[in-house]
Amino acid sequence: MPYVLPKLDFAFDALEPHIDARTMEVHYGKHHQTYCDNINKALVGSPWAEKPIEEVLKNLNKIPDDKRTAVRNHGGGFANHNFFWTCLSSKSAPPTGKFLEALQKSFGSLDAFKEKFEASALGQFGSGWAWLVFPSPIDKSPMGSLEILNLPNQDSPLSIGKIPLLCLDVWEHAYYLKYLNRRAEYVKAFWQVVNWAEVARRYSEEQ
Ligand code: MN
Repeated sequence: MPYVLPKLDFAFDALEPHIDARTMEVHYGKHHQTYCDNINKALVGSPWAEKPIEEVLKNLNKIPDDKRTAVRNHGGGFANHNFFWTCLSSKSAPPTGKFLEALQKSFGSLDAFKEKFEASALGQFGSGWAWLVFPSPIDKSPMGSLEILNLPNQDSPLSIGKIPLLCLDVWEHAYYLKYLNRRAEYVKAFWQVVNWAEVARRYSEEQ
């Protein structure tokens, strides 16, 4: 079965004014769709096409040489956007409970976490993503141990053994229509639409 775009939980204009409707429409309908089409083309006839995209990305080193770059770029682009949409909500409410404690333990406070995450998003030269992850399954502790990292292009944290919890797309296509070159404003606005409930749910699943 070829991969298909997930249905969005919200309308294109639901995240206004922080993420504008036109950007959502083009980002989902054009950029994300193109990654989806291209990974489907790359994996035609391959047994990997039958696997969930997350499993494919976790096994990037096992993908045949002639397909590995396409999987890394288009498979990564497909999976990263699938994940990104679940990180967004028009009904954002601050994190609470055990997940908030984990952020505090790992970074000092929620504000300190945000500051570090913003620095990571702004520090990504060119296109890429900022991520909040579990460092790796073997490093997991019951509380804390969260890590921020930025990765270039469409590289997935899954390919380096990390477990993603939250991400932010800092490709220009994610913000240029509204924010032009002002990535910092876009990154600040992101906090208004983070789906913390979903991030916390993922965190509790990994405990
Ligand atoms: Mn994007």
